[in-house]
Amino acid sequence: MDQRKTTRPVVAVIGGGQLARMMQESAIALGVDLRALVESRDGATGQVTVNSIEGTPSDDALVDALVDGADVLTFEHEHIPQSLLTRLAPHIPIEPSAASLLFAQNKLAMRQRLTELGIPCPQWARVTSVDDVRAFGDRVGWPIIVKTPTGGYDGHGVRVVDDASDVAQWLSERSELLAEEKVPFTSEVAALLARSPSGEIRSWPVATTEQVDGVCSVVTAPASGMSDQVVNSAQDIGERIARELGVTGVLAVEMFVVGQGDNQHVLVNELAMRPHNTGHWTIDGAVTSQFEQHLRAVLDLPLGDTAALRPGASTVMVNLLGSSLPDPARALPAALAAGGPRARIHLYGKEVRPGRKLGHVTVIDEDAAAARAAAQRAVACLRGE
Ligand code: ADP
Repeated sequence: MDQRKTTRPVVAVIGGGQLARMMQESAIALGVDLRALVESRDGATGQVTVNSIEGTPSDDALVDALVDGADVLTFEHEHIPQSLLTRLAPHIPIEPSAASLLFAQNKLAMRQRLTELGIPCPQWARVTSVDDVRAFGDRVGWPIIVKTPTGGYDGHGVRVVDDASDVAQWLSERSELLAEEKVPFTSEVAALLARSPSGEIRSWPVATTEQVDGVCSVVTAPASGMSDQVVNSAQDIGERIARELGVTGVLAVEMFVVGQGDNQHVLVNELAMRPHNTGHWTIDGAVTSQFEQHLRAVLDLPLGDTAALRPGASTVMVNLLGSSLPDPARALPAALAAGGPRARIHLYGKEVRPGRKLGHVTVIDEDAAAARAAAQRAVACLRGE
Protein backbone atom coordinates (compact mmCIF):
# COMPACT_ATOMS: atom_id res chain seq x y z
CA MET A 1 0.00 0.00 0.00
CA ASP A 2 1.04 3.56 -0.58
CA GLN A 3 1.38 4.71 3.05
CA ARG A 4 0.46 8.32 2.45
CA LYS A 5 2.08 10.52 5.09
CA THR A 6 -0.58 12.45 6.91
CA THR A 7 -0.85 14.85 9.80
CA ARG A 8 -4.47 13.78 10.29
CA PRO A 9 -5.54 11.26 12.95
CA VAL A 10 -5.39 7.72 11.53
CA VAL A 11 -7.77 4.95 12.57
CA ALA A 12 -6.66 1.48 11.45
CA VAL A 13 -9.44 -1.07 11.12
CA ILE A 14 -9.31 -4.79 10.51
CA GLY A 15 -12.07 -5.95 8.15
CA GLY A 16 -13.37 -4.83 4.79
CA GLY A 17 -17.13 -5.36 4.92
CA GLN A 18 -20.04 -2.93 5.12
CA LEU A 19 -19.20 -1.82 8.66
CA ALA A 20 -15.76 -0.41 7.78
CA ARG A 21 -17.32 1.04 4.61
CA MET A 22 -19.83 2.97 6.72
CA MET A 23 -17.02 4.01 9.11
CA GLN A 24 -15.38 5.55 6.04
CA GLU A 25 -18.38 7.84 5.49
CA SER A 26 -18.00 9.20 9.01
CA ALA A 27 -14.21 9.41 8.75
CA ILE A 28 -14.63 11.67 5.71
CA ALA A 29 -16.87 14.04 7.64
CA LEU A 30 -14.53 14.16 10.63
CA GLY A 31 -11.45 14.61 8.47
CA VAL A 32 -9.95 11.46 9.95
CA ASP A 33 -7.98 8.98 7.83
CA LEU A 34 -9.29 5.44 7.82
CA ARG A 35 -6.89 2.66 6.92
CA ALA A 36 -8.36 -0.80 6.45
CA LEU A 37 -7.07 -4.35 6.20
CA VAL A 38 -9.57 -5.77 3.71
CA GLU A 39 -10.35 -9.23 2.39
CA SER A 40 -10.57 -7.80 -1.13
CA ARG A 41 -9.95 -4.47 -2.81
CA ASP A 42 -13.22 -4.95 -4.71
CA GLY A 43 -15.09 -5.48 -1.46
CA ALA A 44 -17.43 -3.13 0.38
CA THR A 45 -14.59 -1.20 2.05
CA GLY A 46 -11.84 -1.64 -0.54
CA GLN A 47 -13.96 0.25 -3.09
CA VAL A 48 -14.18 3.37 -0.93
CA THR A 49 -11.14 3.44 1.36
CA VAL A 50 -8.07 4.79 -0.41
CA ASN A 51 -5.76 3.36 2.23
CA SER A 52 -6.76 -0.30 1.92
CA ILE A 53 -4.38 -3.19 2.36
CA GLU A 54 -5.54 -6.48 0.91
CA GLY A 55 -4.87 -9.50 3.09
CA THR A 56 -5.71 -11.29 6.31
CA PRO A 57 -4.82 -10.59 9.96
CA SER A 58 -2.66 -13.75 9.91
CA ASP A 59 -0.10 -11.89 7.76
CA ASP A 60 2.17 -10.11 10.27
CA ALA A 61 3.85 -7.86 7.70
CA LEU A 62 0.52 -6.55 6.45
CA VAL A 63 -0.79 -5.95 9.95
CA ASP A 64 2.42 -4.07 10.79
CA ALA A 65 1.91 -1.87 7.72
CA LEU A 66 -1.70 -1.32 8.79
CA VAL A 67 -0.83 0.00 12.24
CA ASP A 68 2.40 1.84 11.29
CA GLY A 69 1.94 5.45 12.38
CA ALA A 70 -1.77 4.93 13.15
CA ASP A 71 -3.33 6.47 16.26
CA VAL A 72 -5.49 3.48 17.14
CA LEU A 73 -6.43 0.00 15.94
CA THR A 74 -10.04 -1.14 15.91
CA PHE A 75 -12.16 -3.84 14.23
CA GLU A 76 -15.29 -4.39 12.25
CA HIS A 77 -15.60 -8.06 13.27
CA GLU A 78 -14.57 -10.19 16.23
CA HIS A 79 -12.56 -12.83 14.42
CA ILE A 80 -9.14 -11.49 15.41
CA PRO A 81 -6.66 -13.90 17.01
CA GLN A 82 -5.83 -12.95 20.62
CA SER A 83 -2.15 -13.70 19.84
CA LEU A 84 -2.15 -10.89 17.27
CA LEU A 85 -3.59 -8.43 19.78
CA THR A 86 -1.03 -9.44 22.40
CA ARG A 87 1.77 -8.84 19.90
CA LEU A 88 0.45 -5.40 18.88
CA ALA A 89 -0.65 -4.10 22.30
CA PRO A 90 2.76 -2.61 23.27
CA HIS A 91 2.87 -0.64 20.01
CA ILE A 92 -0.56 0.90 19.50
CA PRO A 93 -3.76 1.56 21.46
CA ILE A 94 -6.23 -1.22 20.63
CA GLU A 95 -9.91 -0.34 21.14
CA PRO A 96 -11.61 -2.44 22.35
CA SER A 97 -8.75 -4.15 24.17
CA ALA A 98 -7.98 -7.84 23.77
CA ALA A 99 -9.23 -8.48 27.31
CA SER A 100 -12.62 -6.92 26.54
CA LEU A 101 -12.91 -8.35 23.04
CA LEU A 102 -12.56 -11.87 24.43
CA PHE A 103 -16.13 -11.63 25.73
CA ALA A 104 -17.42 -10.90 22.23
CA GLN A 105 -15.28 -13.68 20.75
CA ASN A 106 -16.11 -16.50 23.11
CA LYS A 107 -19.71 -17.05 24.18
CA LEU A 108 -18.71 -19.36 27.04
CA ALA A 109 -16.34 -16.74 28.47
CA MET A 110 -19.13 -14.16 28.05
CA ARG A 111 -21.76 -16.32 29.86
CA GLN A 112 -19.28 -17.06 32.66
CA ARG A 113 -18.40 -13.40 33.20
CA LEU A 114 -21.95 -12.04 32.96
CA THR A 115 -23.14 -14.69 35.40
CA GLU A 116 -20.39 -13.68 37.85
CA LEU A 117 -21.60 -10.10 37.52
CA GLY A 118 -25.19 -11.16 38.25
CA ILE A 119 -26.40 -10.00 34.84
CA PRO A 120 -29.52 -11.92 33.76
CA CYS A 121 -28.80 -14.58 31.10
CA PRO A 122 -30.66 -17.66 29.85
CA GLN A 123 -29.86 -20.80 31.87
CA TRP A 124 -26.70 -22.19 30.35
CA ALA A 125 -23.97 -24.81 30.73
CA ARG A 126 -20.60 -25.65 29.27
CA VAL A 127 -20.97 -29.09 27.69
CA THR A 128 -18.23 -31.41 26.52
CA SER A 129 -20.14 -34.66 25.85
CA VAL A 130 -23.47 -35.94 24.57
CA ASP A 131 -24.22 -36.99 28.17
CA ASP A 132 -23.68 -33.38 29.35
CA VAL A 133 -26.07 -32.15 26.66
CA ARG A 134 -28.70 -34.73 27.64
CA ALA A 135 -28.39 -33.88 31.34
CA PHE A 136 -28.77 -30.15 30.59
CA GLY A 137 -31.81 -30.69 28.35
CA ASP A 138 -33.44 -32.94 30.94
CA ARG A 139 -32.89 -30.23 33.55
CA VAL A 140 -34.14 -27.15 31.63
CA GLY A 141 -36.56 -28.83 29.19
CA TRP A 142 -36.32 -29.72 25.51
CA PRO A 143 -35.64 -28.43 22.94
CA ILE A 144 -32.49 -26.56 23.93
CA ILE A 145 -30.15 -24.24 22.00
CA VAL A 146 -26.55 -25.33 21.43
CA LYS A 147 -23.90 -22.88 20.21
CA THR A 148 -20.29 -23.05 19.17
CA PRO A 149 -18.43 -20.79 21.62
CA THR A 150 -16.37 -19.09 18.90
CA GLY A 151 -16.61 -18.24 15.23
CA GLY A 152 -20.42 -17.95 14.95
CA TYR A 153 -22.23 -15.15 13.12
CA ASP A 154 -25.70 -14.59 11.68
CA GLY A 155 -27.01 -17.78 13.25
CA HIS A 156 -24.16 -19.97 11.94
CA GLY A 157 -23.05 -21.89 15.00
CA VAL A 158 -26.51 -21.84 16.64
CA ARG A 159 -28.74 -24.93 16.64
CA VAL A 160 -32.09 -25.90 18.09
CA VAL A 161 -31.52 -29.35 19.54
CA ASP A 162 -34.28 -31.89 20.30
CA ASP A 163 -32.02 -34.82 20.97
CA ALA A 164 -28.54 -34.75 22.51
CA SER A 165 -27.16 -36.96 19.73
CA ASP A 166 -27.86 -34.11 17.24
CA VAL A 167 -24.63 -32.41 18.37
CA ALA A 168 -22.40 -35.52 18.41
CA GLN A 169 -20.72 -34.35 15.20
CA TRP A 170 -20.03 -30.84 16.63
CA LEU A 171 -18.62 -32.41 19.81
CA SER A 172 -16.28 -34.58 17.79
CA GLU A 173 -14.87 -31.42 16.18
CA ARG A 174 -14.45 -29.22 19.27
CA SER A 175 -13.69 -29.64 22.93
CA GLU A 176 -16.62 -27.64 24.32
CA LEU A 177 -19.98 -26.14 23.41
CA LEU A 178 -22.42 -23.74 25.04
CA ALA A 179 -25.86 -25.15 25.85
CA GLU A 180 -28.72 -22.76 26.64
CA GLU A 181 -32.36 -23.07 27.51
CA LYS A 182 -34.58 -22.16 24.53
CA VAL A 183 -35.89 -18.85 25.77
CA PRO A 184 -39.64 -18.30 25.13
CA PHE A 185 -39.09 -14.66 24.24
CA THR A 186 -41.89 -12.32 23.18
CA SER A 187 -39.44 -10.03 21.35
CA GLU A 188 -35.76 -9.22 20.99
CA VAL A 189 -34.17 -5.85 21.71
CA ALA A 190 -30.70 -4.37 21.37
CA ALA A 191 -29.07 -1.92 23.74
CA LEU A 192 -26.52 0.13 21.82
CA LEU A 193 -23.97 2.47 23.35
CA ALA A 194 -20.46 3.77 23.00
CA ARG A 195 -17.83 4.11 25.66
CA SER A 196 -14.55 5.99 25.34
CA PRO A 197 -11.26 5.05 27.02
CA SER A 198 -11.81 8.03 29.35
CA GLY A 199 -15.01 6.35 30.50
CA GLU A 200 -17.64 8.55 28.84
CA ILE A 201 -20.73 6.49 27.96
CA ARG A 202 -23.66 7.40 25.73
CA SER A 203 -26.56 5.08 24.94
CA TRP A 204 -28.92 5.32 21.99
CA PRO A 205 -32.59 4.54 22.48
CA VAL A 206 -33.10 0.77 22.86
CA ALA A 207 -34.40 -0.79 19.62
CA THR A 208 -36.61 -3.80 18.81
CA THR A 209 -34.90 -6.32 16.53
CA GLU A 210 -36.42 -9.07 14.40
CA GLN A 211 -34.35 -12.04 13.24
CA VAL A 212 -35.27 -14.42 10.43
CA ASP A 213 -33.30 -17.69 10.44
CA GLY A 214 -30.85 -16.11 12.89
CA VAL A 215 -30.21 -13.07 10.66
CA CYS A 216 -31.25 -9.53 11.58
CA SER A 217 -34.11 -8.49 9.31
CA VAL A 218 -35.91 -5.45 10.74
CA VAL A 219 -34.96 -2.98 13.49
CA THR A 220 -37.36 -0.42 15.00
CA ALA A 221 -36.23 2.39 17.26
CA PRO A 222 -37.34 3.20 19.82
CA ALA A 223 -38.45 -0.25 21.02
CA SER A 224 -42.20 -0.58 21.53
CA GLY A 225 -44.52 -2.92 23.41
CA MET A 226 -42.66 -2.84 26.71
CA SER A 227 -42.72 -0.70 29.83
CA ASP A 228 -40.28 2.14 30.42
CA GLN A 229 -38.94 0.07 33.27
CA VAL A 230 -37.96 -2.81 30.96
CA VAL A 231 -36.43 -0.42 28.41
CA ASN A 232 -34.46 1.31 31.17
CA SER A 233 -33.24 -1.98 32.56
CA ALA A 234 -32.02 -2.99 29.07
CA GLN A 235 -30.09 0.25 28.82
CA ASP A 236 -28.70 -0.08 32.37
CA ILE A 237 -27.53 -3.64 31.67
CA GLY A 238 -25.78 -2.46 28.49
CA GLU A 239 -23.96 0.33 30.34
CA ARG A 240 -23.04 -1.94 33.20
CA ILE A 241 -21.53 -4.50 30.81
CA ALA A 242 -19.55 -1.72 29.09
CA ARG A 243 -18.11 -0.52 32.40
CA GLU A 244 -17.45 -3.92 33.97
CA LEU A 245 -15.84 -5.38 30.84
CA GLY A 246 -13.97 -2.16 30.04
CA VAL A 247 -15.47 -2.02 26.54
CA THR A 248 -14.38 0.87 24.31
CA GLY A 249 -16.01 1.89 21.04
CA VAL A 250 -19.54 0.80 20.18
CA LEU A 251 -21.11 -2.03 22.18
CA ALA A 252 -24.31 -3.77 21.09
CA VAL A 253 -26.03 -6.03 23.60
CA GLU A 254 -28.68 -8.28 22.08
CA MET A 255 -31.38 -9.28 24.56
CA PHE A 256 -34.51 -11.40 24.80
CA VAL A 257 -37.67 -9.90 26.31
CA VAL A 258 -39.56 -12.51 28.35
CA GLY A 259 -42.69 -12.56 30.50
CA GLN A 260 -45.77 -10.36 30.50
CA GLY A 261 -46.93 -7.31 32.41
CA ASP A 262 -45.10 -6.76 35.70
CA ASN A 263 -43.05 -9.92 35.13
CA GLN A 264 -41.59 -8.67 31.86
CA HIS A 265 -37.78 -8.57 31.91
CA VAL A 266 -34.74 -9.01 29.67
CA LEU A 267 -32.07 -11.72 29.38
CA VAL A 268 -28.79 -11.04 27.62
CA ASN A 269 -28.23 -13.06 24.45
CA GLU A 270 -24.94 -11.79 23.09
CA LEU A 271 -22.44 -8.96 22.75
CA ALA A 272 -20.82 -7.24 19.77
CA MET A 273 -17.98 -4.76 20.33
CA ARG A 274 -18.19 -2.73 17.12
CA PRO A 275 -20.88 -0.97 15.12
CA HIS A 276 -23.69 -3.46 14.71
CA ASN A 277 -26.53 -4.17 12.30
CA THR A 278 -29.05 -3.29 15.02
CA GLY A 279 -27.54 0.22 15.07
CA HIS A 280 -27.73 1.08 11.36
CA TRP A 281 -30.90 3.05 12.08
CA THR A 282 -28.72 5.65 13.89
CA ILE A 283 -27.20 6.83 10.57
CA ASP A 284 -30.47 8.47 9.55
CA GLY A 285 -32.40 8.40 12.81
CA ALA A 286 -30.07 9.76 15.50
CA VAL A 287 -28.08 12.95 16.01
CA THR A 288 -24.84 10.92 15.97
CA SER A 289 -24.52 7.67 14.03
CA GLN A 290 -22.90 4.59 15.52
CA PHE A 291 -20.13 4.83 12.93
CA GLU A 292 -19.16 8.39 13.80
CA GLN A 293 -19.47 7.56 17.50
CA HIS A 294 -17.21 4.53 17.13
CA LEU A 295 -14.48 6.70 15.58
CA ARG A 296 -14.93 9.34 18.27
CA ALA A 297 -14.82 6.71 21.02
CA VAL A 298 -11.73 4.83 19.80
CA LEU A 299 -9.90 8.16 19.35
CA ASP A 300 -11.02 9.14 22.87
CA LEU A 301 -12.82 12.23 21.58
CA PRO A 302 -15.93 13.64 23.27
CA LEU A 303 -18.97 11.56 22.29
CA GLY A 304 -21.94 12.90 20.32
CA ASP A 305 -25.60 13.16 21.22
CA THR A 306 -27.44 9.85 20.78
CA ALA A 307 -30.99 11.22 20.82
CA ALA A 308 -33.43 10.34 18.03
CA LEU A 309 -33.59 13.08 15.41
CA ARG A 310 -37.38 13.00 15.45
CA PRO A 311 -38.58 12.36 18.99
CA GLY A 312 -41.98 10.68 18.94
CA ALA A 313 -41.39 9.13 15.50
CA SER A 314 -40.22 5.59 14.75
CA THR A 315 -37.09 4.86 12.75
CA VAL A 316 -37.40 1.54 10.91
CA MET A 317 -34.46 -0.17 9.23
CA VAL A 318 -35.03 -3.12 6.87
CA ASN A 319 -32.10 -5.22 5.67
CA LEU A 320 -31.60 -6.13 2.02
CA LEU A 321 -30.71 -9.83 2.19
CA GLY A 322 -29.89 -11.25 -1.24
CA SER A 323 -31.27 -10.15 -4.60
CA SER A 324 -32.19 -11.71 -7.92
CA LEU A 325 -30.61 -8.73 -9.72
CA PRO A 326 -27.00 -8.66 -10.92
CA ASP A 327 -26.66 -5.50 -8.82
CA PRO A 328 -29.35 -4.00 -6.59
CA ALA A 329 -28.14 -0.48 -7.46
CA ARG A 330 -29.71 -1.06 -10.92
CA ALA A 331 -33.08 -0.99 -9.18
CA LEU A 332 -32.55 2.44 -7.60
CA PRO A 333 -35.14 4.16 -9.83
CA ALA A 334 -37.88 1.73 -8.80
CA ALA A 335 -36.73 1.43 -5.19
CA LEU A 336 -36.53 5.17 -4.58
CA ALA A 337 -39.96 5.64 -6.13
CA ALA A 338 -41.47 2.76 -4.12
CA GLY A 339 -39.93 3.84 -0.82
CA GLY A 340 -40.92 7.47 -1.29
CA PRO A 341 -38.81 10.58 -0.84
CA ARG A 342 -38.11 9.83 2.82
CA ALA A 343 -36.61 6.38 2.26
CA ARG A 344 -32.85 6.37 2.80
CA ILE A 345 -31.19 3.63 0.78
CA HIS A 346 -27.76 2.31 1.75
CA LEU A 347 -26.05 -0.17 -0.59
CA TYR A 348 -22.78 -1.82 0.30
CA GLY A 349 -21.33 -2.46 -3.18
CA LYS A 350 -21.15 -6.19 -2.47
CA GLU A 351 -21.39 -8.95 -5.01
CA VAL A 352 -24.81 -10.58 -4.88
CA ARG A 353 -25.09 -13.96 -3.14
CA PRO A 354 -28.19 -15.66 -1.74
CA GLY A 355 -29.12 -14.24 1.67
CA ARG A 356 -26.09 -11.93 1.79
CA LYS A 357 -26.40 -8.55 3.54
CA LEU A 358 -26.25 -6.20 0.54
CA GLY A 359 -27.71 -3.03 2.00
CA HIS A 360 -30.47 -1.56 4.12
CA VAL A 361 -33.26 0.98 3.87
CA THR A 362 -34.31 3.32 6.66
CA VAL A 363 -37.56 5.29 6.94
CA ILE A 364 -38.64 7.59 9.77
CA ASP A 365 -42.34 8.19 10.34
CA GLU A 366 -44.74 8.99 13.18
CA ASP A 367 -46.53 5.81 12.10
CA ALA A 368 -44.18 2.84 12.64
CA ALA A 369 -46.23 0.57 10.38
CA ALA A 370 -46.08 3.10 7.53
CA ALA A 371 -42.31 3.45 7.95
CA ARG A 372 -41.90 -0.30 7.86
CA ALA A 373 -44.11 -0.70 4.79
CA ALA A 374 -42.23 2.02 2.88
CA ALA A 375 -38.82 0.51 3.73
CA GLN A 376 -40.06 -2.95 2.76
CA ARG A 377 -41.36 -1.69 -0.59
CA ALA A 378 -37.94 -0.23 -1.41
CA VAL A 379 -36.18 -3.42 -0.29
CA ALA A 380 -38.50 -5.55 -2.43
CA CYS A 381 -37.46 -3.55 -5.51
CA LEU A 382 -33.77 -3.91 -4.61
CA ARG A 383 -34.32 -7.66 -4.29
CA GLY A 384 -35.67 -7.66 -7.82
CA GLU A 385 -39.23 -8.52 -6.78
P1 ADP B 1 -25.08 -15.26 16.23
O1 ADP B 1 -23.82 -15.16 17.03
O2 ADP B 1 -24.93 -16.16 15.04
O3 ADP B 1 -25.71 -13.92 15.90
P2 ADP B 1 -27.01 -15.61 18.37
O4 ADP B 1 -26.51 -16.22 19.61
O5 ADP B 1 -27.26 -14.14 18.36
O6 ADP B 1 -26.10 -16.05 17.15
O7 ADP B 1 -28.36 -16.31 17.94
C1 ADP B 1 -29.05 -15.97 16.75
C2 ADP B 1 -30.56 -15.99 17.00
O8 ADP B 1 -30.96 -17.31 17.44
C3 ADP B 1 -31.00 -15.05 18.11
O9 ADP B 1 -31.20 -13.74 17.66
C4 ADP B 1 -32.32 -15.72 18.53
O10 ADP B 1 -33.36 -15.36 17.64
C5 ADP B 1 -31.99 -17.19 18.43
N1 ADP B 1 -31.46 -17.67 19.73
C6 ADP B 1 -30.18 -17.66 20.15
N2 ADP B 1 -30.07 -18.13 21.41
C7 ADP B 1 -31.31 -18.44 21.82
C8 ADP B 1 -31.88 -18.97 23.03
N3 ADP B 1 -31.12 -19.31 24.08
N4 ADP B 1 -33.22 -19.14 23.08
C9 ADP B 1 -34.01 -18.85 22.02
N5 ADP B 1 -33.55 -18.36 20.85
C10 ADP B 1 -32.23 -18.15 20.73
